[in-house]
Amino acid sequence: MSLTGANGLAHACATRPEAALRPGYHSPQAEVDVRLNTNESSEPPPQAFVDALADELRSIPLHRYPDRQATALRAALAAHHAVEPEQVFCANGSNEVIQCLLLAYGGPGRPAMLFEPTYALHSHIALLTGTPVVAGRRDDAFEVDPAEMARTLAAAAQMHGPASPAVTFLCSPNNPTGGVETLDRVRAVVSRVPGILAVDEAYGQFAPWSAIELLESEPRLVVVRTFSKTWAMAGLRLGYAIADPSVVGSLSNVALPYHLDALKQVAGRLALGFGDEMRARVAATIEERGRVAAALGDLPVEVWPSNANFILFRVSPHDGPQVWKALLDRSVLIRDVSDWPGLKGCLRVSIGTPSENDRFLSALGEVLSAEDDSRSTVC
Ligand code: PMP
Repeated sequence: MSLTGANGLAHACATRPEAALRPGYHSPQAEVDVRLNTNESSEPPPQAFVDALADELRSIPLHRYPDRQATALRAALAAHHAVEPEQVFCANGSNEVIQCLLLAYGGPGRPAMLFEPTYALHSHIALLTGTPVVAGRRDDAFEVDPAEMARTLAAAAQMHGPASPAVTFLCSPNNPTGGVETLDRVRAVVSRVPGILAVDEAYGQFAPWSAIELLESEPRLVVVRTFSKTWAMAGLRLGYAIADPSVVGSLSNVALPYHLDALKQVAGRLALGFGDEMRARVAATIEERGRVAAALGDLPVEVWPSNANFILFRVSPHDGPQVWKALLDRSVLIRDVSDWPGLKGCLRVSIGTPSENDRFLSALGEVLSAEDDSRSTVC
């Protein structure tokens, strides 16, 4: 690539090929009335939390580096999950946790195994860290079939040796399909893979169980969580892993010094004091999700059951990107996942406030009937 520097001279500066931005890496950030594209909480955090954070901000010694061990935050998270502080690693969003996992355990010749369709950043971050990806396919119900798992494992071992895969990802509930893995499935996978099994539970508060229960007996298991969704703190960027202390040590080794700023450490600790409010929001979101799913059922779309704060649906024979754009034209932004593996014609909508969901549903109904009209005119 040829760049022109400040002095006007052209010079050749090629990025690593894996560093080129891949399609779908960023969800568009458009100015719209109704934003249902990134599965955030539809409501801001409780005012009492914001007040408490503002109060503590006044006493943070901002001229000093933050606590590198994030001692108070990790102790609070450990108490919340009934584990030891040495089992908790915190980072700037769960994406950074995943990046640290791949920096520590992946890399050239040390593949990551995953099952598509799943959270796109697992494979994106793998590639960015030089980690080869061996991808299996979920079945028609978006489950990981044991035979497909065996096939993918064998492919990884054949390509990269018997210690492969170094890291395996499951996502439960899975983004963007919404299904949960059973604990038996998690147990079965960890017993078969040679390396780390990372269970991404970004939407874990919506699931009936958590792989955290298995940590005591499975030292190669890493459970990844975030404050970006139900804790309503996407703007603060905080995620964490719960794992064996030796894994936490390896993750800390690859994180940059002082990577977790002081304000975020306080914010995470304070947020955990608002568990009741968070649980009430989860319950309200689940109720709204039921209402949206039922309303989608009355439209000519295929809908998958969800255990998260979003719903996947297929608009075929309508064109996914066209429907997405027509919704955007009505100031409703959802996620176009139609070019993700196995998701042709699919879109994903986050559950918002009741009025946002109503706007989405009426816009979608309008778009689909307008498209039907134009189709019948053409015919
Ligand atoms: N994992 C999954 C499955 C997600 O859907 C997301 C956010 N879309 C993340 C991880 C990353 O979340 P964050 O970095 O905001 O914690």
